[in-house]
Amino acid sequence: MSAKVIAVADHRYPASAPRIPARLVAPSGELLDSLHRPLRDLRISVTDRCNFRCSYCMPREVFDRDYSFLPHSSLLTFEEIVRIARLFVAHGVRKIRLTGGEPLLRRDLERLVAMLAELPGADGGRLDLTLTTNGSILARKAEALKAAGLGRVTVSLDAIDDRVFRRMNDADFPVADVLRGIDAAERAGLGPIKINMVVKRGTNDQEILPMARHFRGRDVALRFIEYMDVGATNGWRMDEVLPSAEVVERVAEEFALLPLPASAPGETAARWRYAEPGVAGEIGTISSVTQAFCSDCNRARLSTEGKLFLCLFASRGHDLRALVRGGASDAEIAAAIGLVWQQRDDRYSELRSAAGPQAPAGEKRVEMHYIGG
Ligand code: SAM
Repeated sequence: MSAKVIAVADHRYPASAPRIPARLVAPSGELLDSLHRPLRDLRISVTDRCNFRCSYCMPREVFDRDYSFLPHSSLLTFEEIVRIARLFVAHGVRKIRLTGGEPLLRRDLERLVAMLAELPGADGGRLDLTLTTNGSILARKAEALKAAGLGRVTVSLDAIDDRVFRRMNDADFPVADVLRGIDAAERAGLGPIKINMVVKRGTNDQEILPMARHFRGRDVALRFIEYMDVGATNGWRMDEVLPSAEVVERVAEEFALLPLPASAPGETAARWRYAEPGVAGEIGTISSVTQAFCSDCNRARLSTEGKLFLCLFASRGHDLRALVRGGASDAEIAAAIGLVWQQRDDRYSELRSAAGPQAPAGEKRVEMHYIGG
């Protein structure tokens, strides 16, 4: 296929090619959206496939054998991803997170990591290059990822009890293999490691304390994530959300905690360290449901097939692949991205909080495995 042919589009989520402005303003690195939020963080989904079937993300009833994932020709190539990422960096992005689906399922991901690691960071420093993974094949990949230039990893782990974990991932995947992956990442120098635990009341909330006990004393940030109403397939209900405040109370009943300041502007997690002197490790909470953090959201998301989404809860994307494969120049694509960001006014979580316990109705929201977590 020639580079200028536009592959069959995925019509699940509407997206049109963003407008190229008549006057091409070069990126200044200081782009602000309509609510004065800068663009700092780009999440790139490298595949919509995953080997887990967590009910809150890719429930097996929907993502079964008959589900059609994107064909390979639809996916952005590594060269296309890097070309787009470079333009985002010029606009001020300082952190790139590879995600999915399960990013380690994308063949030769190390090659993409090596290509992205060449991009400049802010003020001549290194780009913060990171990856979110379910850890299932991390033990095999950690060394190669580090050698390719990956900075650190976030590993998702919803329980330390093997039975609960197998039930959560719905792929009968053992917890021991993920723990081996975390150890391998630590040995390879992919720290500080973050562990993400999605908490679903009545499903795995009994695992909060065992998880804290397990990781306390290690240089690991354990983050409890409120179960979110992303996508349209997980059957989200507010009564299955355990508010972060309750999570912290439960941990604090066993371990005294001291609050930590945010490590960076736009940081999604509230953080605590263990009060006992000399004990390594911290916990964090990500409370998109009970404490929306839209006001300093500086994240953009690039879907597996090149659509730019401005919010995790968006329904519509901006088809950058159409520009890339349609022959637009870097200056044109950069200007189009700039315009899209300047017009951004998304603040779904705040609107949801204002609307009350039920999510605002609207168009079908994009699935998380497709735009990445
Ligand atoms: N496969 C990788 C993984 O498991 O980390 C990356 C993709 S996954 C979509 C990214 C993160 O999103 C994971 O930590 C996952 O637990 C989280 N996630 C998915 N659906 C969620 C939901 N409904 N609420 C909260 N977090 C969710």
